[in-house]
Amino acid sequence: MNTDIFIQNSRSSIYEEITCFLKYLKQMGATGADIEQKSLECMRQWVQPIFQKQRTETRIEQQYPRPRVTDAKDSKQPQRKQVFINTNDALTTLLKTVKACTKCKLHQSRTQIVFGAGNPKSHLVFVGEAPGFDEDKSGKPFVGAAGQLLTRIINAMHLNRDMVYICNILKCRPPNNRRPEPDEMEACFGYLETQLDIIKPDIICTLGNTASQTLLNVKTSISAMRGRFYDYKGIPVMPTFHPSYLLRNESKKKEVWQDMQMVMKKMQDSVSQ
Ligand code: URA
Ligand code: SF4
Repeated sequence: MNTDIFIQNSRSSIYEEITCFLKYLKQMGATGADIEQKSLECMRQWVQPIFQKQRTETRIEQQYPRPRVTDAKDSKQPQRKQVFINTNDALTTLLKTVKACTKCKLHQSRTQIVFGAGNPKSHLVFVGEAPGFDEDKSGKPFVGAAGQLLTRIINAMHLNRDMVYICNILKCRPPNNRRPEPDEMEACFGYLETQLDIIKPDIICTLGNTASQTLLNVKTSISAMRGRFYDYKGIPVMPTFHPSYLLRNESKKKEVWQDMQMVMKKMQDSVSQ
C-alpha cells in the first residue's frame, strides 16, 4: 500500500471537512472562528493538491452571494408572494401591526406580544408553538426552561441565538399555556407567513406537533414526520421534537440531534454545490 497517497488523501478529506465546516459557519453568519494556534500551524503544513485548490476556489466564487438551498427531491421553486427590499424595515413594519393586533381572543390576556428574535437575515429559522409564561413576561421567544434547552441545541450546532431566528406560530400566550386553538392559529398564521417571506431562510426547523403540522398543513404526528425534510414554499423544513417534550422525554434527544445534524449537513451541502 502506498502510504503517502493514503496520508495525502486523508489530509485532503480532513481539509475538505474543515473547509466545509468553516463555510457552514460563514453561511450561518459567523465572522470568525476560534482555532488553536497548533491546529493552524498543522493545517498550514498540509499540501493541498492543486486540482483540489482550484475546485475549492471555484466553489467559494459560486457560494457568495448566498445561494438558496434547494433539494431536487422534495422542493418546488419558491413561490414568493412579496419582495421585500429591506429586511429590517419590513420586519419593523410587521412588528408594529402585530403589537396592535386584536384579531383573536388572546389579545385580551397577553402581557405583550412575542414577535421573534435573532438575526433577521438568518439562514435558519426555528418555529415553535406559542409564548409561555416567561415569554409573555419578557416579550422574547423561548426564554423559559424549554428555551434554555433550545439554546443548548443551537450551541451544539456551533451556532448561537444571534445567528438564527426564533419565532412561534402564535404571537400571544394562550392562557395557562393551553394548546393553541384552530381559530387562533388561523388568525395568527399570516404573520408567520410574512415573517418567513421577509427573512427568506434557507432552512426552517419546526419544533413539535403544532408548529410542524400548521406550517406544513398536515395532520401527521411529529414522531412520524421527523427525520426528513419537507417543503414550505421551496424552503426545506425539518420537523423535530419540541424542547419541552424533550425535557419530559430525555431519550428523544438523540433523535433531535440526528435531525439537527441533517440540518447542518444541508447547510454544508448548500455551500459545497
Ligand atoms: N414554547 C414555545 O413553543 N415557544 C416559546 O416561545 C416558548 C415555549
Ligand atoms: Fe393577533 Fe396572533 Fe395575538 Fe391573536 S395571537 S391577537 S392573531 S397576534
